[in-house]
Amino acid sequence: MLPIKPAVNEKETGISTRSTNKLMDALPCPICLKPLFPPVYQCQNGHTACASCCKLQLTKGTCPSCSAPLGGNRCSVVENIIESLEINCKYDILGCLKTVQYTKLSKWAEHEDVCEFRPFHCPVVGCNYEVPKLILPLHFQDSHNGRLVLSELQPDDQRKASFTIETGDSDYDVCHSQYVIVLVSSDENTEDQGSDVKSFFLIHHQVDDEFCRYSFSCTTFGPSIMSTRYRLLVEIEKPGNLKVNHTIEGPVLDNQEDKTLLSKVVRHGDCLLVPKLNDSRLGGSSATRKDFSFRVQLLLL
Ligand SMILES: [Zn+2]
Ligand SMILES: [Zn+2]
Ligand SMILES: [Zn+2]
Ligand SMILES: [Zn+2]
Repeated sequence: MLPIKPAVNEKETGISTRSTNKLMDALPCPICLKPLFPPVYQCQNGHTACASCCKLQLTKGTCPSCSAPLGGNRCSVVENIIESLEINCKYDILGCLKTVQYTKLSKWAEHEDVCEFRPFHCPVVGCNYEVPKLILPLHFQDSHNGRLVLSELQPDDQRKASFTIETGDSDYDVCHSQYVIVLVSSDENTEDQGSDVKSFFLIHHQVDDEFCRYSFSCTTFGPSIMSTRYRLLVEIEKPGNLKVNHTIEGPVLDNQEDKTLLSKVVRHGDCLLVPKLNDSRLGGSSATRKDFSFRVQLLLL
């Protein structure tokens, strides 16, 4: 688990604790001790105060330090310093290099909410790992026997990602819950231009041997366009039997908002179910799972 705690006052102020702390150290309002923000006022002796403190009944328009009038004169030196301040993303220790001007900080919360480096809980039931989103594919590979599928897919293009899951694979026999991670190239049209940040789809494929059930689900970890633009399509093929070509299709779900989504999808069966192997649509009774292969595609809507 990484040593990251949610910012205590982030919702209230839109400013992250890390950022706020840095500024409070450097430039607090001497009256309310909150970070100074333009307009900043000063008395004739150079004592500064924020706009709301100048209006307070408590101060009655006078400087609490020297009783000189306060609230008429702006302090352009301090305002200029504040306007030149740049704040790091609170996930800088995890690798985010983005900065923002302090005066645009209210918009910054939007970045930190979707920052590619913010930590995610691994959605696998029982796994408490928490890592930046971009590390998740490697975590799935290392800890959950996940398979990485590289794709040239971009969120904005017309291509589809497709790959095949061979049920006869030796790996497949030992692992009844399979994760396939489809890495997606960064979208050149987003603000992440120039970075090699990638999104990915996580396809969970489960086999229930006892009931001969196969299920598929597909989730993304944002941006949300990934879930609204794509659908998961699974073609069930029985090589050598041209009559068997059954297709199932379902939505791509957004893991971003709901960290327990994957476990819910699996537990509640809210996923694509392949017909039982002895179903007539799959060619009849004597089939075993080694007879089938699944061609999985992500289709652009
Ligand atoms: Zn103040
Ligand atoms: Zn004063
Ligand atoms: Zn960031
Ligand atoms: Zn995990």
